[in-house]
Formats: sequence, C-alpha cells, structure tokens
Amino acid sequence: MGTDKKRKVDLLLVIQDASSRVQYRNMIEDMELNVHVCMADCGSTAIEKIAENDFGCLVLDSILPDMPAKNILAAAREDSKSIIPSVVFTTEPNETDRLKLLEAGVSDFISKDECTPELLRISILYALIRNEYSKSQQNYEQALVLLKHKSVIELAICKEKQELKEANSKLHFMAMHDALTSLPNRLMLLEHLDHSLQYAKRNRTKLAVLYIDLDRFKLVNDSLGHDIGDQVLLSVVHRIKGQVRRSDILARVGGDEFVLLIDKVKGNKEIEIITQKINRALAKPIVLDDEAIYMSASIGVDILEKNHQSAEMLIKRAAKAMYQAKTNGRNDYVIYSEDLITSTVSELSLNQKLHNALKNNELELYYQPKVNSVTFEVEGAEALLRWINPSHGESPSVFIPIAEESNLILDIGQLVMEQACEQLARWKHTIFQDLTLSVNVSSRQFIRKKVIDVCQNCISQSDIDPRLLELEVTERVVFESVNANRSDFSKLKDLGLSISIDDFGTGFSSLSYLKNFPFDVIKIDGSFIRDLPSDRYSKAIISSILHMTEGLGLKAIAECVENKSQFEHLRDAGCNSIQGFYFSKPLPVSEFELWVQKHQQLVDYKRKVLPNNMLQPATQSLRFQ
Ligand code: C2E
Ligand code: MG
Ligand code: MG
Repeated sequence: MGTDKKRKVDLLLVIQDASSRVQYRNMIEDMELNVHVCMADCGSTAIEKIAENDFGCLVLDSILPDMPAKNILAAAREDSKSIIPSVVFTTEPNETDRLKLLEAGVSDFISKDECTPELLRISILYALIRNEYSKSQQNYEQALVLLKHKSVIELAICKEKQELKEANSKLHFMAMHDALTSLPNRLMLLEHLDHSLQYAKRNRTKLAVLYIDLDRFKLVNDSLGHDIGDQVLLSVVHRIKGQVRRSDILARVGGDEFVLLIDKVKGNKEIEIITQKINRALAKPIVLDDEAIYMSASIGVDILEKNHQSAEMLIKRAAKAMYQAKTNGRNDYVIYSEDLITSTVSELSLNQKLHNALKNNELELYYQPKVNSVTFEVEGAEALLRWINPSHGESPSVFIPIAEESNLILDIGQLVMEQACEQLARWKHTIFQDLTLSVNVSSRQFIRKKVIDVCQNCISQSDIDPRLLELEVTERVVFESVNANRSDFSKLKDLGLSISIDDFGTGFSSLSYLKNFPFDVIKIDGSFIRDLPSDRYSKAIISSILHMTEGLGLKAIAECVENKSQFEHLRDAGCNSIQGFYFSKPLPVSEFELWVQKHQQLVDYKRKVLPNNMLQPATQSLRFQ
C-alpha cells in the first residue's frame, strides 16, 4: 500500500549472533516495509550508529554481550532527545520483567521462540506508526529548538557589540518574566493591561481578564515531585496557548495561577467559548514517565464594560469570580457580576446542572451511521449523547469530562447503555434488525468496575442479541487498565459483544496490549483523516494502521470523514467502514431511521440501474445531508 517510496525509514537491527542477524535482516527486507536495515552486533556499536543516524525503529535482543537493551534505549533517548520506537526480543520469563521493559521505553516485545515473520512485521509496523505520530507531534518542539539555534548563531555573529545590550535586556526580561515558563509575570502583566485598558477606553472596545487556577495542583507536586509538577505546568501553558490568539497575553501570576488577557472581545459568548475550549484542552491526560495526570482549572472572568475599572481591579474581580468557580465544584468558569458575591443564589455549577439534566431526562442518544465504503450498505451506528436544553446544551466533549470527575459518569454510563439496548430491542424484527450499535464507555466506568454488570443487566433486560452491541473504549482505558483487571475485557467479550478502540493513534497503548486484549475494531482518529489526501504523514499513518489491523485480523473504521476526497482515499487504501459528516451527522432516532431508509432505497436503485462496477463512481449522489 501507499508508504512513501522516497522516505525510506532507517531501522537498526542489534543482534549478537551473526547468522541470526542476517536471517532477521532478510526477514525484515522481505516484508516490503520501505525500511533500510542497518546492523550492529553489540550495544556500544549500536549506540555509535544511533548517534550518527536518524533511526525510525530499533529491533534488538534484550541482552547483548556488553549491555542490556534498556541501556541502549537510555543512550538513544539521551542522544536524540526522544524515544525511538523499539521492538525487543525478550527472554524475560514473567509479566513483571516485561512491564519493566515497557517502563524502560520499549514499544513492544516478542519472545524469539514465538516470533513469526507476521508477528515481527506487525510489531515493526506499529513502531513505525508511533514514530510517524511522534514526529508530527514534535513540530512544535522542533520550532523551539530552531529558534534556540538561530539565536545562538546570531549571538555568535555580533557577540561583542551586543554583549552589553544582551545582558541588559536579559536582566530586563528576567525581571518581567517567569523563569520556568518564560511567560510575563505579574509586573509585566500590569504593564500590558494598562496599555490594553487605554486602548479599550479610547476605542470603546471590550477587554476580558481570565483568572485561571489549576485544580488540586498541589497534589501533583506533593505526590509526584516538583520536577513533574514543573513539566505539568509547561504542558498546561502549551495547551492554553493552543486555544487563544497569538496576540492574547498569558501571564503566570502564582505557582499554579495564570491570567489571560484578551483584547477586543465581542461579548460574553465569545469568552464562554474560550473558557470551555481551555477546560477541554486541559481535560486530556498529561502523560509523563508513563503516568497519566489529569488536570482541570477553575476560571474567573471579568469583562471591562464601563470605563472606570483599573488594571488591578480587573484582576481582583476575575480572581473573586475564580473562587466562586472553585466553590461551584471546580473545573468550571464564572463571569464576574456585581451581585456575584452578595447574591445567595449563585450560579449552579455545570456539575449540578448535569445532575439535574439526568433527573429531568435531558440526556438523549443521537445516532451516526457507519457505512461500508464498497457496498454503501449501512452497517451500524454510533450512539452519541446529547444534552437537550435550550439554555445550556454543552457538547459531550465538555460535559463528559466533568461527569468523569465524579460518580455522575457511572449514572450517565448506565443511562446510555440502557437507552442503546432499548433501541436495539425496538429495532428487533424491523428493517433495522441487522444494524450494530456502538456505545462510548468512559475509562472511569472501567476503573470503578461497574461496566460488566451494567452491560450484562441491560442485555438481559432488553433481550437483545449481544453481537449487535459494540463498546467504544479509548486507548486511555487500555493504558489505565494495565495495572487493573485485564480480565474485565475478557468478561465483556464473554457476554458476546464486541469492543473497539476509539480515537486510535492518539493514545499510549503498546502493541503488546493490543495483542493481549480481545479487541475487534480499531477506529482511526479523526486527526489523521483531517488532512487527507494531501498530507503525506497522515497518508503514511493511515496506510500503516490499515496494514496493522489487517495483520491482527481486526476491522478498521475511519471516523470524522467529511468529504469525498477523504472518503475515496480511505476506500482505496482498503478501509471498509466509514463514519462522518460526509454521510451524515449524528441524528435523533426518528431522523436516523428515515436517513437509513432513504439511503438504502438509493443504494438499491443504483444497484438495479447501474452495472455492478458503476456503483462506486456514483458515490457522490449516494449522500444525504
Ligand atoms: P467520539 O466517540 O470519538 O465521537 C466522535 C465525535 O466526532 C462526535 O462528537 C461526533 O459528533 C463527531 N463527528 C462525527 N463525524 C464528524 C465529522 O465528519 N467531522 C467532525 N469534525 N466531527 C465529527 P461528539 O458527539 O461531540 O462527541 C465527542 C466525544 O464525547 C466522543 O468522541 C466521545 O468520546 C464522547 N462521548 C459522546 N457520547 C458519549 C457517551 O454516551 N458516553 C461517553 N462516555 N462518552 C461520550
Ligand atoms: Mg466514539
Ligand atoms: Mg473517536
């Protein structure tokens, strides 16, 4: 399939024994993976080669004559400042030793006795996918490194002339910026804020100050240490900056407190959207040293409406609003108003609103079709939760993370499973009886061990065929389940349902776990689809994932497919199942049923009037918006 011919990836094979080294090299070369195999017979030669080359994958014996594999990985990490995905031939007999290898940075391991060419091929493919993905993630860091290099060169050119000037401006910078994050400090913020205030008053524009305080950050510092705490802060800064304009000013005003200054604000709605985006960006786990850290923030906002507020006053009022957000249960935002502090009727937290929504039946499932890319038959649907309320219909990406903070996710998970199974029961003996239905399951439901009972009860109460039910779990579930009970997945499979990995490619699971867990479907994350077909990285990743799923005997489905060229690329690359706006957005059940019927009529009609091989080019008219 379409791996880019020009970009051969260098692979380093480190095996002591000469004849098996050559045997494995031949085996890898026969796999047509578009890799160039280099070889080494011991750890020190391997380290030298790693220093000279940019390897995309390492395949190595766990024990070499001069050192164990993990020492080579540590040296490689130090040298390239990133982890080179690696496959290790393990002799480690037990699970604990294998886990230790994973902790040392090994992406995958294979026992030499059990190694078949196919297994090795899949493992290398998976390592290559990881390499492609991490490369695309490193763009930001590379940009920073380039900047640093540039400034080093510039310094060298006009060193003498500039020395005094540089030292002065460095001092000035240090006085005005935070040492860890390089963000403006409080002093600098006040300077910016004064300018912005004058501008806003002159031009009668609005200005917003967001006071962002991380929730329970102290716990991170206390339990994981200050080094990890610092890295979490850097990651938080990076994420917040990713959600705002370059011209907006983000300052660090305390250990875990930040102030965001936004000029030319149009109204409260715009600020609400920004705060929600920040909370959403922070909700994704920060993974450091194999530890998934969950952060959230409480945000207080003050918007300059009248002309009399001073810079200090704006910050103070935003901070007051932030404390109110904390009182509301954290991971929330509050916009300052005069009666905020005096009023006894404070804003209900989103969490509380969600409680009410559950009680008042405001949570409802919508259905998005999954279509076979070759036959155009509708194979099934994904059930996606919607909050139906005229004043706050937040999307699930906002309210699910909030529900996950408390036990509320268990009640919501149960409701979703009940509604989905009831729907499958209603479709029984109708034209929709063969549709499969997938349901998203949160990692918290696994951690709190409710999911098996809930599935079992719902399946038996609604008396449905469990083969029609599919659970969508993210890689986070797999990652967090490593130390939990793996048999949960087997028990679920014993109920007869199938399991798919959602958002595949963005998480952190190792192929070993993919092989060990009983998954059926891999759902390729929308971030790899977005830039198809022009982006060669996305194409290479998609191609590798499809190879891998085929090798593992799993089904692949692509989500968030929005247009014809994405659809055609995926179909031609061999992806048989497609979901996304290209066919339909998620719909309420009655509209979904209508959509399926109309779609089927059109497929039947095309099949009748067109010869078989003409069905494919007619794709465009098979869509319904
Ligand atoms: P997900 O499971 O990966 O769902 C796919 C998301 O992509 C959905 O967003 C869907 O509406 C959206 N989508 C579908 N086609 C397209 C497309 O062509 N383009 C774009 N840009 N987006 C598309 P939604 O419904 O907002 O859900 C977001 C996430 O919230 C879901 O991601 C899932 O992780 C979570 N979620 C939704 N419903 C539930 C639920 O019942 N339980 C749990 N635990 N999580 C849920
Ligand atoms: Mg999903
Ligand atoms: Mg997804």
